[in-house]
Amino acid sequence: MPNARVLIDGPSELVFDYAIPAGFPVQPGCRVRVPLRKKSATGTVLSLAESPQEDFALRELESLVDPEPLITPVLLKTGRWIADYYGSSLESVVRSLLPEAVRTEENSAKTRRIAVLDAPPAEDVLAKLEKRAARQHALLSLLMHAPDRRLAVADLGEGSNAALKALEKAGLLRIETEEVRRDPEADGVEEILESKPLVLTPQQAKALEVINESIATPGKPILLLGVTGSGKTEVYLQAAQHALDLGKTVLVLVPEISLTPQTVQRFKARFAGMQDKVAVLHSNLSQGERFDEWHRIRKGVARIVIGARSAVFAPLPDLGLILVDEEHENSYKQENPPRYHGRDVAVLRAAFEPCAVVLGSATPSLESWQNTRSGKYHLVRLDQRADGQSMPLVRVVDMKLEAMKQKGPHPILSDRLRTALERRLEKGEQSILFLNRRGFARSLQCPKCGHVCQCPHCAVALTYHRTDDRLVCHVCGHQAVVPRKCPECHDPSIVLQGYGTQKVEDVLQRLLPKAKFARIDADAMRRKHALRDTLNAFKAHKIDILIGTQMIAKGLHFPNVTLVGILNADVGLHVPDFRAGERTFQLLTQVAGRAGRGELEGEVIVQTFTPHSPSIQYARQHDFDGFSDQELEFRQQFSFPPFAHCAVLTARSTHERRAEFTLQTLHRRLLENAPPHLNIGEPLPSPLVKSHGQFRFQITLRGPAARPLSRHVQQVLEKTSLPDDVTVVFDMDAQNFS
Ligand code: ADP
Ligand code: ZN
Repeated sequence: MPNARVLIDGPSELVFDYAIPAGFPVQPGCRVRVPLRKKSATGTVLSLAESPQEDFALRELESLVDPEPLITPVLLKTGRWIADYYGSSLESVVRSLLPEAVRTEENSAKTRRIAVLDAPPAEDVLAKLEKRAARQHALLSLLMHAPDRRLAVADLGEGSNAALKALEKAGLLRIETEEVRRDPEADGVEEILESKPLVLTPQQAKALEVINESIATPGKPILLLGVTGSGKTEVYLQAAQHALDLGKTVLVLVPEISLTPQTVQRFKARFAGMQDKVAVLHSNLSQGERFDEWHRIRKGVARIVIGARSAVFAPLPDLGLILVDEEHENSYKQENPPRYHGRDVAVLRAAFEPCAVVLGSATPSLESWQNTRSGKYHLVRLDQRADGQSMPLVRVVDMKLEAMKQKGPHPILSDRLRTALERRLEKGEQSILFLNRRGFARSLQCPKCGHVCQCPHCAVALTYHRTDDRLVCHVCGHQAVVPRKCPECHDPSIVLQGYGTQKVEDVLQRLLPKAKFARIDADAMRRKHALRDTLNAFKAHKIDILIGTQMIAKGLHFPNVTLVGILNADVGLHVPDFRAGERTFQLLTQVAGRAGRGELEGEVIVQTFTPHSPSIQYARQHDFDGFSDQELEFRQQFSFPPFAHCAVLTARSTHERRAEFTLQTLHRRLLENAPPHLNIGEPLPSPLVKSHGQFRFQITLRGPAARPLSRHVQQVLEKTSLPDDVTVVFDMDAQNFS
């Protein structure tokens, strides 16, 4: 007899086996009630398995909470795959599949009582009531004129209860219970106007045709590579419509709901006529709202679901299409257990369903791109802007020259960019200034010649460690002393670089006193709706110049913006991450794509100390192919993804030595019986060596195949007993190396 392995609800994540009483149709994914110590509790069945012979008899399940499993077979299969591939516990996966709001017992559907009149009462009955029971008569008249002859009991006013009861008893009306949706959009401030489908350009039409074919007969995943402004969103919308027309449902993944207000808005506008069939999964839904949305999705009431990463587990029935917008974004990677990649899980789920899956981007990840080259994915391109406009003109300004001209090591604004801003102000056009804050004050760069201290073995920038005043390579461990002058040109002013948005705003305000500024970054956007309000103000042209970080890089469309300035394009290039060049290229291309999206022609000015770096030059030419060719060559040469899988094993502890010692022990064991071609890096301090009071050490692993790498690490972790005060984290396909 198999037993049921049950994950008990609640924070302590207990897992116990229970015997299944005869005749219980228990399946994995079922919610059950079980005895726990002297009480009873609820939980989720993870699996059914024969338990090894036990000394004691297992206790029995008490009852089934829901008649059928809440987790669909496809999602359970996806969940098992995730647990295995990423080395996550099945419990953590089930927590993602069934959000706490759905598992917690306190949450249940909210209901209300409705008085229903099935047929109008006979004249004589009415006449009688009018004389003898005025209240009952009044209620009946109300109901006779109500829509569908239904009214909520709560709306009938205090003191109607006795009258209602009497009417119910006399068989003149019925009282029903009805579920009420806690509608997250109910207090919606914005009115949504329905948008009509546009006439597609020939390229868009071709793309739509390919996607529609895949909806009918799911095949390979589709990579939609469309330059910024090429109308990818319009293609998504029409493909979604097509899936709906076929009676299927649609899942739309975006990097972050709060950072993509315009994309969400466009979906809401297109499907405004069926608003209650669209579910937007925000992170700030209340537990009750989340419960309702989840069940609306599961029952197939909601037909389109829009959400970030975790929405990939939305229990949509009859799934016809998954859209992954901005598929290259690393926010698709979950940084807590289970550490899955939302895009990759989307592709997997689509294969299991099966359904169509479209990954869209102007700057696809090299992983997805390589999959099109190897024939695993189908490539569809949109290489022209939908409105027929040309791509914006990109100018590169060499800040080394600017530093000489302005006689300071860190000029914030070049003359060229300042003049361009002034001209926009005169013409009443708007500008966006972008500041790349990644890698802030980390790498060492010479302001004279632009030289950045690099590792001789790994082609990544060395990271400055303040505590021991050293430069360290975070891939191989190579160490170097901090040069007192530039190794290249011998200038003594080599410095850590970096400045923030606030400083930029101060400086600009002095240079352009008449301009109205707004700043968008994590600090300025803490207030609820701050981002939306600022973007609306910008749209209404109450702001001339918008200054922002990564938060403004995504999906924004402002026709009056004719100038985009990128203040420090190369900062992100020198972070200790083999994806530094790729990320810089992506960011520059995305940001540049915000310019000239209306009638007016756009201009982009890129300020950099390394004007000849490939990321900057290829972004300037809007040349994804050129960039990816060169970058892939480098990746292949050094065995980085997409030619290998890369993972990070981190040990954290408030005790520095113990974290380090634990990782050294793990390192020794990893070296024993390692699968062939697995490259196991040295245990090293993490770039972010102390965080939240914890010391961090890490090992980078690279291998040609994912499974052997992941299994090997998991086996070593299972065999090693870890000290209580050390946390070990395994991040498969890591996107973040800090
Ligand atoms: P992307 O998502 O590829 O950056 P968008 O979907 O934002 O591009 O489209 C850019 C602009 O072009 C939007 O204003 C959109 O309404 C418009 N657009 C898209 N498709 C068409 C079309 N077929 N005809 C006219 N305008 C279009
Ligand atoms: Zn190195």
